[in-house]
Amino acid sequence: MATPLTAARVLAALKAEGVTVVEVGSWRTHNRSGHGAWGPVAGVVVHHTVTSGTAASVAICRDGYSGLPGPLCHGVIDKRGVVHLVGWGRANHAGSGDGDVLRAVIAEKPLPAPNENDTDGNARFYGFECVNLGDGKDPWPAVQLEAMVRASAALCRAHGWSAASVIGHKEWTNTKSDPRGFTMADFRARVAARLRKAPGAGTSTPTPTDPSQEDTVPNPSMLNESNATDVELPSGEWVGLAFADPVVHSGPRLHNTLVHISLDENSPDDALVEGRFYLTDTSGKNPSAFQTITRHGGGGHQFALSGTVPAGKHLRFQLRVKTSDATPVTLLHRTATGPYWATT
Ligand SMILES: [Zn+2]
Repeated sequence: MATPLTAARVLAALKAEGVTVVEVGSWRTHNRSGHGAWGPVAGVVVHHTVTSGTAASVAICRDGYSGLPGPLCHGVIDKRGVVHLVGWGRANHAGSGDGDVLRAVIAEKPLPAPNENDTDGNARFYGFECVNLGDGKDPWPAVQLEAMVRASAALCRAHGWSAASVIGHKEWTNTKSDPRGFTMADFRARVAARLRKAPGAGTSTPTPTDPSQEDTVPNPSMLNESNATDVELPSGEWVGLAFADPVVHSGPRLHNTLVHISLDENSPDDALVEGRFYLTDTSGKNPSAFQTITRHGGGGHQFALSGTVPAGKHLRFQLRVKTSDATPVTLLHRTATGPYWATT
């Protein structure tokens, strides 16, 4: 483990590695200081944003959203291979993960599969959020991957680490699936190859065609809806949730949404709690299939989704609670919060 680089040092390291860098606002002092440790650091975590568009992605990663304050990483790497520095110091990106993985990273040994979330990753890792929808279909342009390799290599080189110090978020915790669309083994092989070269080797990544356009970050509107009417949830049935409205978002919109629900504390500990966001047309018909997020037991639970709601579509949310003895569970309160941007 190592003392974190200063902001000046990381900027120099990225530039020396041939990376195009955009400094966003007061990134050097934007951090989560006062909310936990920062350092000693052991490595780099690579993420995908589940967003599209540089400006909106940079804004989310800089500002965060209700329930998860920014910065959400140190650098956002866009599809043209530009690294936007949004924060320096402790950032809300890695969250809790497996201490066995941290020990393997420190030893630069092969990683065990994560199966515990017992260690604060935000204190131990640098983080890059890479703009991609994370659906396995959104492409990873070659210039973006190259910038991701170089940015990771820049930090490894500055610390004297090998490529084994670079991990994917999904390798840190079993609660995450990012990054999706390439393998971390291939990515580490590319970082290793990069580290064998001199830092300035190769052509630099392309400069943005119009940086002034791209750096304008629109201010988001904020969703802030809640509903405290008790609802009895029959065991095993999907129930559509209304907040102020059953429609969470109407397209066209880019959004980053956090649904928080409170179940009766006396709900059984073995209760299986599932949430899913889905799209419908404006009449509420033709629901899309969406991935289900799983939680357990009574009390509060959170469900997050970032992405695009196309024109003519509505985003809704459903909850299903299953108890072993099929008794119903009472939903006490729910909120839907987060930033959104109108899109065309
Ligand atoms: Zn992540």
